[in-house]
Amino acid sequence: MTVDIAQRTYQMYIDGEFVDARTDSFLGSVNPATGDEWYQIPDAGAEDVDRAVKAARRALHDPRWAGLSPTARGKLLSRVADAAADFGDRLAVVETMDNGKLIRDTRATYATVPLIWEYFAGWADKLHGQVVPTVDTTLNYLRREPVGVVAAIVPWNAPLTLASHKLAAALCMGNTVVLKPSEITSASILEFVEVLESAGLPPGVVNIVTGRGATAGDALVSHPGVDLVTFTGGTEAGKAIAHRAAERHVRCLMELGGKSPNIVFGDADVDNAANGLIAGIFAAAGQACTAGSRAYLHRDVYDAVLDKVVERAGRITLGDPMSDLTEVGPVAYEAHMNRILDYVGVGRAEGATVRLGGTRRTEGDLARGYFVEPTIFEGVQQDMRIAREEIFGPVLSVIPFTSEDEVLGYANDTPFGLAAGVWTRDISRAHRMAQRLDAGTVWINTYRALSPITPFGGFKASGHGKEGGMESLLEYSRVKSVWTNLSDAATADPFVVQR
Ligand code: NAD
Repeated sequence: MTVDIAQRTYQMYIDGEFVDARTDSFLGSVNPATGDEWYQIPDAGAEDVDRAVKAARRALHDPRWAGLSPTARGKLLSRVADAAADFGDRLAVVETMDNGKLIRDTRATYATVPLIWEYFAGWADKLHGQVVPTVDTTLNYLRREPVGVVAAIVPWNAPLTLASHKLAAALCMGNTVVLKPSEITSASILEFVEVLESAGLPPGVVNIVTGRGATAGDALVSHPGVDLVTFTGGTEAGKAIAHRAAERHVRCLMELGGKSPNIVFGDADVDNAANGLIAGIFAAAGQACTAGSRAYLHRDVYDAVLDKVVERAGRITLGDPMSDLTEVGPVAYEAHMNRILDYVGVGRAEGATVRLGGTRRTEGDLARGYFVEPTIFEGVQQDMRIAREEIFGPVLSVIPFTSEDEVLGYANDTPFGLAAGVWTRDISRAHRMAQRLDAGTVWINTYRALSPITPFGGFKASGHGKEGGMESLLEYSRVKSVWTNLSDAATADPFVVQR
């Protein structure tokens, strides 16, 4: 099944209207399973971004948005949730054609999009200011306000889910947004405009500019009309964007890359742990920020677990992501495939051994797309690049260990701190590890469990700030402290701080 995109040349969405870019140039987008270009997006420039930011600034103060009570704002978000539920199947197909993720996976993902909107809809009139008990002669209260115009930038691996987290939380707190999807996968986000419009979102509240990171993205994060930058993507782009934000002292929220450890202790359930390792690195062809790309196996179960993982991974059905029988689809685009294969070469050159896979698959129809075999490296040393750098593909590095302290040292010995998995039946050890691991998410005897009601975000080079849960609303709002003197008496001493 494919989706008939009536309008194969998309327009951007600014101030409630579909518009062309003033640059008058376009970028093609390729289906990674077939290598065929199937739509084009405007390659926006600084002038287009300026138009979008100005529309968002106007909408911020427009009574059709600013005049809504928080309860009415919540109802609007709830209508988005309802409309999103009706669109889920179509958007899942669009995303699978865009980034090559399995249709089974994108359908399951899209089932959560309405939940994200519904969750934040519920918060709209519940997170508010408070009175602070200072001294009797003053009234000090806190106003929780929108930050203003939010610049939101998302990557290609889960476009609409990541965008929904940013949009729903930002709108919940009364902000307006300019969103830039990845140039690799803009279709599902542009199609989602129909959902936003059907819910009755006023013009300018959400604007979408398409194009490249270095041009449209950079113009957006540098724009003086932007009050907050929320970015999900690679650590290097995140660094460039954070520099831009720092130039204007603009708050930024960073959800970046990872090199997450998946740790199996000697007492773990071998079958469950092997499944968890497979899910961690081969689901979505390893193109998940939380990919469990470093497997640490206790020497007592090293062979038992690794044999199972190799056996199961060796049977993985690679192929058309639209088929319900496929287990691993293509990687998202050609240059990314080449980068993954380069890393396989790096691992070999560093002296690690390929236990499974390691090549591009090209038999039959696979030749048209970008298919990389599930790959497992043994004999990996902690200081090798394949153990330290994010590959963002189906490549697992396996390292043995003997003691808890030893593996903790390995696990935390990375610039990243996004997620970690721990497999053990010893409850005390599980929670000791959870306490000591430097990761924003720790999974015990599971991997990849996520929910919009739980805060998600990394430590160290994996970023700062949280998406999801009540914590994300703190990111998308600001607090103002208001002091009122309740006394008619003259100030005792004007030269001393009043407390
Ligand atoms: P990327 O950093 O190349 O691009 C992400 C987005 O940023 C795109 O929209 C791109 O156009 C834009 N961009 C790039 N450079 C920019 C710049 N200088 N200024 C402004 N915008 C710029 O990442 P990608 O290849 O699209 O996605 C993969 C990365 O995303 C991986 O590192 C992955 O770990 C990370 N990721 C993180 C999370 C998380 O929640 N932590 C979730 C998903 C993906």
